[in-house]
Amino acid sequence: TKTLVEFKNLKTHFHTSAGVVKAVDDVSFSIREGETLCVVGESGCGKSVTAMSLMRLIETPPGEIAGGEILFEGTDLLKLSKREMSRLRGNEIAMIFQEPMSSLNPVLTIGEQISEPLLMHKNMNRKEAKQRAIELITLVGIPRAEEIFHAYPHELSGGMRQRIMIAIALSCDPKLLIADEPTTALDVTIQAQILDLMRDIKTKVNTSIMLITHDLGVVAEMADFVVVMYAGKVIEEAPVIDLFKDPQHPYTKGLLKAKPVLNQKQDRLYSIPGQVPNPVELGNNCHFHDRCEFCMEICKTKAPPLRTHGESKHKTACWLYEEEGKVQ
Ligand code: SF4
Ligand code: MG
Repeated sequence: TKTLVEFKNLKTHFHTSAGVVKAVDDVSFSIREGETLCVVGESGCGKSVTAMSLMRLIETPPGEIAGGEILFEGTDLLKLSKREMSRLRGNEIAMIFQEPMSSLNPVLTIGEQISEPLLMHKNMNRKEAKQRAIELITLVGIPRAEEIFHAYPHELSGGMRQRIMIAIALSCDPKLLIADEPTTALDVTIQAQILDLMRDIKTKVNTSIMLITHDLGVVAEMADFVVVMYAGKVIEEAPVIDLFKDPQHPYTKGLLKAKPVLNQKQDRLYSIPGQVPNPVELGNNCHFHDRCEFCMEICKTKAPPLRTHGESKHKTACWLYEEEGKVQ
């Protein structure tokens, strides 16, 4: 399979009064065509900042992309002009967020909002756009599409609004759909319905999905491939089956010990003692060392490389798997 997106040594920093926060600290991973890749980790580990960097939506200042590349079909998105980037955004790369109400415009009808990208990016006329919008409303599982086309966001339930966000995101047949905790704000039954919808859509359109979540239940249901982030770093990545069958990093093992409870609202992981470290005080070491029961001297002074230790697609950043760690 072809690579669609490649993050190469991405560094996204924020300049705060307390110091520099390395929210994304030398992150590399790839998203392949047609794949659903889940980025999983606790709140504040850099998942959303990674996605926002790809969308070029990091506000500067205080944010800054301090290094690296984000290749999309081989082109570095970080080098595109604002104009080129806005052509890609919403067209080839679309994003859905946690809170659909704040992303929909309250004074425009659903139909106007689904039509807008079609008029802008696809050169459709009003009539064609309306026809396509109605198809999309139907695709996302909403009955009486014609009626919904004329409705305003406040007339719809939270679950329906999230379906509309998905319809808007899919309107231009994006190659990449980024979904940042798309079900976290919804209640239990609706969450499950939206996940079902996303899986269903995946079989109908050939879009790669980058799904950001703190919920391993969501990962188990949705992912082909998983990237685990901790305090700005990728600490493990693997195909979903390998990750659940043979987790390697102590943090991932801890995550999996906390039995995945689908629909759990908390953004915390109770099984691992301790806290995510203060992001301004991170050193060039294993960022998990304070919480790790296997911590060795080298872990406190040197960052472990993200490397394969067996199956070629399974990588882990942990000194336990390195000769240098073993001699300690
Ligand atoms: Fe634990 Fe060291 Fe591995 Fe970090 S590198 S997870 S501190 S053993
Ligand atoms: Mg987030």
